[in-house]
Amino acid sequence: MLPTEVPHPHVARRTAVFTESVIREMTRLAMLHGAINLAQGYPDFPAPDFIKRAAIDAINADLNQYAITWGAPRLRDAIAAKTKLHYKLDFDPAREITVTCGATEAMMATLLAVVEPGDEVIVFEPFYENYVPDAAMSGAELVFVELHAPGFTFDPAELRAAFSERTRAIIVNTPNNPSGKVFTREELQQVAALCQEFDALCITDEIYEHIVYDGRPHIPMATLPGMYERTITISGLSKTFSVTGWRLGYVLAPPALSNAIRKVHDFLTVGAPAPLQEAAATAMEQAEAYYPELRAMYTRKREQLLLPLLESGYRCHSPEGAYYIMADFTGLGFPGDDVAFARHLIENAGVAAVPGSSFYRHRDEGAHFVRFTFSKSEETLAEAARRLR
Ligand code: GLN
Repeated sequence: MLPTEVPHPHVARRTAVFTESVIREMTRLAMLHGAINLAQGYPDFPAPDFIKRAAIDAINADLNQYAITWGAPRLRDAIAAKTKLHYKLDFDPAREITVTCGATEAMMATLLAVVEPGDEVIVFEPFYENYVPDAAMSGAELVFVELHAPGFTFDPAELRAAFSERTRAIIVNTPNNPSGKVFTREELQQVAALCQEFDALCITDEIYEHIVYDGRPHIPMATLPGMYERTITISGLSKTFSVTGWRLGYVLAPPALSNAIRKVHDFLTVGAPAPLQEAAATAMEQAEAYYPELRAMYTRKREQLLLPLLESGYRCHSPEGAYYIMADFTGLGFPGDDVAFARHLIENAGVAAVPGSSFYRHRDEGAHFVRFTFSKSEETLAEAARRLR
């Protein structure tokens, strides 16, 4: 047991139901063993020049004090303009857009703002690991609906069975981490119909909105009929502009919901870094030609990792979006223990991945998977491919 895990009589119960991030733990192990880190999803290549220059300019222009709590006006305007151009959605920057410290804070602030302790919140599994601590800290009880491998589709009957009078919200993460699933319009419509029938909110995590493959569209839930009113849309700049350390996220929601989220956000963090918000505004104003380049770049990276995985005997579903591959390693003659397998990969192959069970409530269901990210440079991926083979 690590010293930090020793129970202390003054530690609150809400911290006991979750452990430290498995993803970041794998990063630590990768560093310890000099392994290539295909565990944590962040780019190891430079951010685009135009966003870096804008940040330097903003600091030199002394935009170094608090921005308005809800977000710098220029950034909220840029978010509104982009959202309208791409999705024909009209969000009022004055009342319906809040800039946060990453999508991570956006999700936490949202749950604290809309969930009463004991309310049920539905999540699809495999799920992004943050939703468990988010639920614990907001008092939500999670109800799980499985995305069935290999295609990561849900059974409509299982989805319906998860809804009840106690359902306050459902979280939809599309494009999906870790499965690479992009929800189709039909699937979103099924979720939407149940949200309306049970008067539930839909909280979406659309942080990978610009990373979609094979011409597939990203469809925001808020564009579906009757859903603007009950959808809280979360996204951010981390993945799109390769600036995960800048901590820039945002929430789009109707005024009454935004109001509650803004109050929580104000007292959680006051606001996201002011000069980086200015840089983000500049970047978003100039990014229309950049988005297709980003998709093309990640399409190449997807192939660069998918092929060696398949050739090495993993079974994987080609991701439709985001930058992860859930790889089934049972064909490699290794007993179905993902934690042992991930350790073996780090120590013997020099490649780090995330044990699949950390994305499942019943850990057994994920125990034949490890998750690899391909958000890495061509050189890193080439070396990883060599080591995996
Ligand atoms: N979103 C990234 C991932 O899933 C990083 C998460 C993290 O740092 N915990 O890998």
